Amino acid sequence: MLELDLTAELDRQLSVCNACRYCEGFCAVFGAAQLRTAIGSGDVAYLANLCHDCRMCFDACMFTPPHEFALNIPAVMTQARVETYVEYGRPAVLAAMFRRPGRAAKLAVAAAVVLIALAVALFAGPEAIRPQLGPGAFYRVIPFAAMLAVALGLALYGVISIALSARSFAHDIGGGVPFVTAATLRTALHEAISLVYLKGGGSGCYDEHRESGRRRFFHMLVFWGFLADFAATISAAVLQDFLHDLPPYPLWSVPVALGTGGGLAIVAGAAGLIAVKKRSDPRPMSPRMIALDYAFLGLLELAAITGLALLAFRSTGAMGSLLVLHLGAVAGLFITAPYGKFVHFVYRFIALVKHAHEQKN
Ligand code: SF4
Repeated sequence: MLELDLTAELDRQLSVCNACRYCEGFCAVFGAAQLRTAIGSGDVAYLANLCHDCRMCFDACMFTPPHEFALNIPAVMTQARVETYVEYGRPAVLAAMFRRPGRAAKLAVAAAVVLIALAVALFAGPEAIRPQLGPGAFYRVIPFAAMLAVALGLALYGVISIALSARSFAHDIGGGVPFVTAATLRTALHEAISLVYLKGGGSGCYDEHRESGRRRFFHMLVFWGFLADFAATISAAVLQDFLHDLPPYPLWSVPVALGTGGGLAIVAGAAGLIAVKKRSDPRPMSPRMIALDYAFLGLLELAAITGLALLAFRSTGAMGSLLVLHLGAVAGLFITAPYGKFVHFVYRFIALVKHAHEQKN
């Protein structure tokens, strides 16, 4: 359960909103808040993850600081979302490290790079810094079995950790009422894929005190880039395991085309999101959420840029070092996924399912 002072603060701010109710016309959060006579801590987690951080309610409100009511709903929501990630993250000891997300992300990548570099030094030795050409070139630096075992181990860890977090979160926001049905899942899936709420109150978010579709556009680039890279990995596995065609693959092959397109989309999307964030008014944001955002976007950039560099220099002596860096960055993403910004899509999706249930009843 989330901290009581956050619950009391959101309750106070929403009770002032009740006297105005202007924002109810454009934001699902205020409509959902209206259904509650008092805000409990499960409600805070639900409303905070239903909030898409468009910040329109900050720009539209006449009671924001320096007014004595000091309403700042987006700041409370972002603070509550950060608390969600720490509170529900499993195991709790690792989730607690993300109270300082930048340091945790750097530690995760550094540890992964050092361990992979040691493994490469033991397995390949000096061969790792010589050009490796032809089928199986990557596996002469790191054996395929080791790569697969670590990737599967990290993926399994991430899935179990996120599933445990999601179950606790769904239990708390549900308040004992089941809300997951085929219809609510369908509605939430449509809303999540179309990023409908990143349109804010109309045609965009209020990052610089005016409507803009930039954040939604860059978010879409990262989202589809991520899916393209995932599809590239699956297609490479099919080529290798079913058609016995070992990497590296030609530039025009399906895995390389998907991986390159996805990597470029992530580089552009993450850079765009960082630029938007740097120009945004920091008042409607929690400093801890800003740190969490930068840590995640930085990791995404590192993974995508090292992946593209690996493609560009794969037939040179730099391939071994770039492979270590790229795998270290990807491992960092996997390790931090259950506690960092990546996990926001899980909590947000569950909140959308709950919202769809409330709308239908
Ligand atoms: S920031 Fe946007 S989504 Fe969040 S409560 Fe305000 S208006 Fe709603």
